[in-house]
Amino acid sequence: MELNILTLCYLIASVTFIVGLKMLSNPASARKGNLVAAVGMAIAIFATIFLYEEEGKKLGNYLWIFGGLLIGTIVGTLAAKKVKMTAMPEMVSLFNGMGGACAMLISLIEFNHLAHQIQETGNEDGHTGKVIIIVLGLIIGSVSFAGSMIAWGKLNGKVKDFSFTGQNILNLVLLAVTLGLGAYLVYNPAQSFLLYIILSMSLLYGVLFVFPIGGADMPVVISLLNSFTGVAAACGGFLYDNKVMLTGGILVGAAGTLLTILMCKAMNRSLKNVLIGSFGGNKTVAASGSKDQGAYKEISLADSAMIMSYANKVIIVPGYGLAVAQAQHICHELEKILEEKGVEVTYAIHPVAGRMPGHMNVLLAEADVSYDKLKEMEQANDEFKTTDVVLILGANDVVNPAAKNDPASPIYGMPILEVELAKNVIVNKRSMKPGYAGIENDLFFQPKTSMLFGDAKKVLQDLVAEIKNV
Ligand code: NDP
Repeated sequence: MELNILTLCYLIASVTFIVGLKMLSNPASARKGNLVAAVGMAIAIFATIFLYEEEGKKLGNYLWIFGGLLIGTIVGTLAAKKVKMTAMPEMVSLFNGMGGACAMLISLIEFNHLAHQIQETGNEDGHTGKVIIIVLGLIIGSVSFAGSMIAWGKLNGKVKDFSFTGQNILNLVLLAVTLGLGAYLVYNPAQSFLLYIILSMSLLYGVLFVFPIGGADMPVVISLLNSFTGVAAACGGFLYDNKVMLTGGILVGAAGTLLTILMCKAMNRSLKNVLIGSFGGNKTVAASGSKDQGAYKEISLADSAMIMSYANKVIIVPGYGLAVAQAQHICHELEKILEEKGVEVTYAIHPVAGRMPGHMNVLLAEADVSYDKLKEMEQANDEFKTTDVVLILGANDVVNPAAKNDPASPIYGMPILEVELAKNVIVNKRSMKPGYAGIENDLFFQPKTSMLFGDAKKVLQDLVAEIKNV
């Protein structure tokens, strides 16, 4: 009877994962989707703790289990509450690494169980399927753990990009030898020492694989590692014949893979190019290679307020700088005050604006900006030519025309917001420094463009005050 209730709990949890994931695809339902899936996960965890039985015995070890749950819950809640939106990719990477580490530990423990069983019975046969899954879980989980830790370090600036000639070849050789040793262990599971060699090599591979990848590509790598963790967790599901772990792992694996593909598409780059291209990795070289672009034009707050107040249509382009300045609320106020003056105001959202896909949507949703005001890139590009003023707030690479015009540019081919089609472009940033990709932006030097320097929040506060006086 209890087993049936357990199966029912797993079924409910699996359904909540699928429904939750579906709800995540729309900003309006994303928050609820997250909650739905979290409730499902809680059901799965508690059902396993209290209902799971093996040979008539319950799990036991409640002190350890609840001790771990308590510590994990406190650390997770505090970290999630404290994290700034701009540091979200870092946190995702850290949490993802923990998932990889879990899969790695499961493999180590289960292999030890199996080795004892083999020792006791003297029978090596009939374990092939189990050893394959253990070895796969170990390799994928360790790569994901080590890679995520390096990605986390790179994103918070503690780990610097590091590469040397022949690194990609060394990585390939390392991977091939690790897989070869794994295959040998499957064939001969009594050689249990090999497991620790495979573990060390997988960890080393995870580190070396992420080290040379450029900073701007980290979100893609994190998404890829996320899909690895999903597959490693699915291996655990196979191992324990646990349906909910299997479903969860497969969903994470598939979603991570799809997100990786979508991000590559948004930057018009292949995964291979991301993995060995080092985009955004060498900022000083890219920045110093800039050509002399001539003079740029500045605009005062009063003039900005004037042309925006008398415009028919204004499109706001939010970027990473808006997130850093936490200027989303005052930005929404600007939108409202312009609308009171009869100006049509919308937002143009580039798929990789900020530091991760969806960053701008979440940020603006936090400030109660209505979802129907957010235009996706293609739609916005159709509308710029009928727009009087484009106001760029802390965005840079995603509006850089070099992506269209300069085949030598590292961002050449990346689809961008074609803001220069509008009648006037006002760019707010603090200086003439480059953005994440470390390259100059021709847009700032075009005749239509005016620079409005300053911190986005302060500038918007002053702008709102000015517009009230127009
Ligand atoms: P960028 O990093 O290109 O530019 C942000 C700009 O904001 C900077 O030029 C900076 O200029 C300005 N800024 C910083 N702080 C402030 C502030 N307080 N007030 C006003 N302005 C500020 O951001 P974008 O959003 O345009 O582009 C995102 C970049 O990240 C792209 O290169 C994209 O490819 C990459 N990315 C990659 C992803 C991936 O999947 N690989 C995912 C998401 C993003 P200044 O210092 O002068 O103020």
